[in-house]
This record gives sequence, structure tokens and C-alpha cells, in this order.
Amino acid sequence: MKVVCISDTHGHHEKVAVPDGDLLVHAGDVTRHGTVDDVGRFATWIAALPHPRKIVVAGNHDWALQREPQAARRALSGVPGLTYLEDSGCEVDGLKVWGSPWTPRFLTWAFQLPRGSALHRRWQLIPDDTDLLVVHGPPKGILDRVGGVLPKLAAAATTQSLHVGCASLTAAAKRIAPRLVVFGHIHEGYGIEARDGTTYVNASICNARYRPVNEAVVVHL
Ligand code: 5GP
Ligand code: MN
Ligand code: MN
Repeated sequence: MKVVCISDTHGHHEKVAVPDGDLLVHAGDVTRHGTVDDVGRFATWIAALPHPRKIVVAGNHDWALQREPQAARRALSGVPGLTYLEDSGCEVDGLKVWGSPWTPRFLTWAFQLPRGSALHRRWQLIPDDTDLLVVHGPPKGILDRVGGVLPKLAAAATTQSLHVGCASLTAAAKRIAPRLVVFGHIHEGYGIEARDGTTYVNASICNARYRPVNEAVVVHL
């Protein structure tokens, strides 16, 4: 199965060249400001892509999916072959997929929770037999390093790590050992990494300045 992974298009989806494939995965931050109209425009665009199956999770910018879930989900539910996952799962040609939007709290954004037990409880919902895990944010230590001068100064001042991913997600992913984990959120972490038999993909299309500079990541499962 050819899986095409994108994330963090932030309303720039029309500028992204998406290769054809069996399954298209979008790991959240489909919008910049998160209105229902923004979600609708994204839905119109993704509907025109040829992939027979599409999986979408929300990101912390996608407010409408949290605040106006009926209207925002309705926009996505009109897209043939698209499944919106929010702490829920589905199957794609025998592949067991789970999706979740939650990220560790950072300023004030949608779908965020404090680090620790609140996030841990969300990851406990992930079934043990999951093959493909789609989340908005990275696990701690994997393609989760923030860049730029300001974060470095802040980290030096507070001895905080530059790795800002979720530690309980690292543990959950290790326990479940899916074949593939797809996320975005930390745009600077764009890339692919194999660890303990799992392929991790940070599919952020936008860079830290919200410019759509990266390519879709293709994984064969
Ligand atoms: P977004 O606003 O699209 O969710 O994230 C964009 C950028 O904000 C990331 O690439 C990263 O530079 C920064 N960012 C997001 N979440 C965090 C976080 O939890 N900690 C830090 N230090 N930076 C973050
Ligand atoms: Mn983003
Ligand atoms: Mn994000």
C-alpha cells in the first residue's frame, strides 16, 4: 500500500504537489485560523485528489473541529473516501488505523492538554493492534526538535529541552509498535526516522514561518 503523508498545510494546500497513492494521510493543522470556512476550502481541495482513501486528524490550529464540531465535521464528511479521526479508528484494506489530535499545552490552542496523565489517558485509548497511528504532534525525542535562535535562548535560560514532543506518546508508540506513525506540528522536525521496527514521519509541509516548502512523504506498507 502506497501511503502519502502530509501535515501542517495551514491553508496553503493548493500549493502542495501531492503524489498519487492508495491512502492519503493529513496529520492536522489543515488551517491557519481554524474557521469552518477554512475547513470547507480544505475539504473541496482534498475531495479533488485521486486517492481512494483519506485520513484526516485535527491540529491545534483547527479550532472549528473543536468549537463547532457539527459544522466542521459536516464539511469533511462530504468528501468521498475521507475518514476524520478524533480518538477513533478505522480500517483501510486490512490496515488498522487510529487518529488523535491532542498535543501538549503550549500557549492557547485547540486540542491541547497538560503534559502527563491527561495526555497519557488519550494514548491509552489507542488499540494494541494499531498498524498506522496518526497524531498531530510528535513523540518526545523523535523529529520533535524546535529550531531558531529564540527557542534556543529560551531553552538555555530554562534548561528546557529543545525536544518538545510528548513523552507519554513515546512510551505508547513503543508499547504498541505500529508499523507507521505520522505526525507534524513541530515544523522544523520534518523528516523520516526508523526506530524499533516503527517508521516515524514528521510530514510538516510548512516551515516554521508557515511557508509550504516541504514535499509529501511517501511510505510503502
Ligand atoms: P503550530 O503553531 O503550527 O502548531 O506550530 C508551529 C511552530 O510553533 C512549531 O514548528 C514550533 O516551532 C512552535 N511550537 C509549537 N508547539 C510548540 C511547543 O510545544 N514548544 C515550543 N517550544 N515550540 C512549539
Ligand atoms: Mn502547524
Ligand atoms: Mn500544530
